[in-house]
Order: sequence, then C-alpha cells, then structure tokens
Amino acid sequence: MAGVTYDAVTRRYPGSPRAAVDALDLEIADGEFLVLVGPSGCGKTTSLRMLAGLEGVDDGHIRIGDRDVTGVAPKERDIAMVFQNYALYPHMTVADNMGFALKMAGVPKAEITGRVAEAARILDLEQYLGRRPKALSGGQRQRVAMGRAIVRQPQVFLMDEPLSNLDAKLRVQTRTQIASLQRRLGVTTVYVTHDQVEAMTMGDRVAVLRDGVLQQCAAPGELYQRPANAFVAGFIGSPAMNLLSLPVTADGVRLGGVDVAVPRGAGDAVTLGVRPEDLHLADDGIPLEIDLVEELGADAYVYGRTRVDGVEHPMVARVDGRRPPARGAGVHLAPDPERVHLFGAGGRRLD
Ligand code: ATP
Repeated sequence: MAGVTYDAVTRRYPGSPRAAVDALDLEIADGEFLVLVGPSGCGKTTSLRMLAGLEGVDDGHIRIGDRDVTGVAPKERDIAMVFQNYALYPHMTVADNMGFALKMAGVPKAEITGRVAEAARILDLEQYLGRRPKALSGGQRQRVAMGRAIVRQPQVFLMDEPLSNLDAKLRVQTRTQIASLQRRLGVTTVYVTHDQVEAMTMGDRVAVLRDGVLQQCAAPGELYQRPANAFVAGFIGSPAMNLLSLPVTADGVRLGGVDVAVPRGAGDAVTLGVRPEDLHLADDGIPLEIDLVEELGADAYVYGRTRVDGVEHPMVARVDGRRPPARGAGVHLAPDPERVHLFGAGGRRLD
C-alpha cells in the first residue's frame, strides 16, 4: 500500500479565468481516509480525477507511494474508483460486475471467483451474487460498486460522492459501513463530498477547498475547534457559526458583556465567530429578537437578529428543545468566552 502526495498541483481548464485547482499541496498518509470537501465548483472532483489520471495536470506532480504518476495512464496507477452513479453493467450479474475488471486484466478465473467471494462476504452480498443490478436495492447496488473496487486490491480507493444516490437514512448507515470497512482494509482512501457531516464523520482528516484553493487540512476536531479562517469556520458546523464584523476598541471587541482581546495590528475591525451551540440563554448579554424557532426534539435553534453599535446582525443559537422560547420573544444570549473565534484581515484566524 501507499500514501498519496499532491505537490503544487494545478489544473486550468481552457477558457477559464482562474485555476480549477490552484497549487494544491497535500500529503495523504498510507492507510489514511482523507476527505475532500467544499462547496460546488471548488475543485474536489478535479483533484480526484487528476489522481485517477482522468484529468490532465497543468503544473506540479502527483505521487502514489514513491512513484510519480503525473503522466501515467489511469489503468497503470493501481487505484480503484467508486462513482456516485455506481456505473454497474445492467446485463451482468453481481458476481460478474464485481469480477469484470479482473477478467479484463487477465486474472485467472479461479482467483477471480475467490476474490469476488471474499468481497461479497465482507460486504454481506453473498446471497445476491447471481442477481442483476435492477433486482437490488440502492444500498445493495452501492455495496456492489464498493465490491468492484475491493476485488482489485488497489493501493488507493477514490470515491466521488458514492452516497449521493441513497436516501437520508441509508446514507447514514452506509457511511458508517464504508468508514469501518476502510479502517479494516487499511487502504489509503480519497473521498469527495460536498456534505460537511459526511466529511467530519468519515475522514481521518478533512481537506476544505474553496475556489480551487486548499483552505485547511486537519482532523475533524481541529477543523471544528480551530478553523484556520472564517470560510472554514462558516463551512464546518450546522447551523453555521455566527460571524459578526465588529469594531476594535482599546479593550478589544465586546459582545454580550464579554470582552475579547484582539492581538495588536489586527486593524479597526475583526470578525468574531461564535457557534450556535456555544451561546446560551442568559439574564443579560446579547439581546436577540427571535424570528424563527426550529424544534428538533432534544435541541431547538432560535434564529433572530441582534444589534451591536447600531448595526443589525443575524444570529442563531442552540437552546434546550424541551423549553424553547417563543417566536417574537426577546431573549438574551451569552457566549462561552472560551469558545469564541477571531478572524482578521482576509478572514485569517488571529490566535
Ligand atoms: P461539484 O461539487 O459541483 O461537483 P467540484 O468541487 O467537484 O464541484 P469541479 O467539478 O472540480 O468542482 O470543478 C471545479 C471548477 O472547474 C468549476 O468552476 C467548474 O465549472 C470547472 N470545470 C470542471 N470541469 C470542467 C471542464 N471539463 N471544462 C471547463 N471547466 C470545468
């Protein structure tokens, strides 16, 4: 097995003013589950397709293990890809679908049968080997697509939104299965999703992209607790972190009775970030006019507006779902002073 290195990798599509992927540096360890996440058009799929060899690299190098694969044909890269539409052959049985790539590669029949049986056992597909894809549920088809990748025993798995065709419940189940399967097999995996919950629950590390530029690559806990900039802060977490642009005074910035020190040289204004779950109802603090209450059972989210120095800011807080305040009510919120984030010029984290 092997790790993967992106070394200043750039892809410019002809006629496009900016690079789809811009000088991407990323080192993925052997056996690691790395998730590429970001909003639509940020360059996730292009990054994955360059690793697969399905997309050209304009600048930089990609290595799998010690081998520079930048100019190497896809089928020589020793990778296996799982796509969102599974791309199963409708006229073939599950067993033939799973063994097809091996057959094409000239692997002896007995070995194909053995590897397919092993993958079917791992994926709990043994009783479906004789069926055709149309006689399977969406979740089973997804597992066949995984099986096709597993039987090839590649050095790297590449997955592009493999769960996007499943309904919400199955998606949650399947993401746990894929994550635990990957840990069991120990195969280096690069996984693309636009879903930050999927990214956070599955990845050993998560790389956040925006407009072709890597913003931060870190373990899920680190991304959540110490986002490198305001974009990552707003992207990771749901509902999103409250981000308020506030004037800096001699004491720093002040929100809801809490003073936050601001490092020297940060400028006249900074962005203060506080997550909805790091605000609580208080007797005084930030006054909030509630526009909407979203009740989820255990928790409720209250959405409203607050005023700081005459400027109105939208704000959301998580409260106890068993005793939520009513829409139209005025409440006060206090931030947990240990859990506020500060971002300066260009959105960069300040501490
Ligand atoms: P999504 O989540 O919507 O699939 P993504 O993050 O995977 O998005 P990419 O598909 O990698 O993003 O696209 C990155 C940028 O490159 C986008 O601006 C897209 O419009 C552009 N792009 C992608 N493929 C091509 C192409 N074949 N020709 C020209 N531009 C392209």
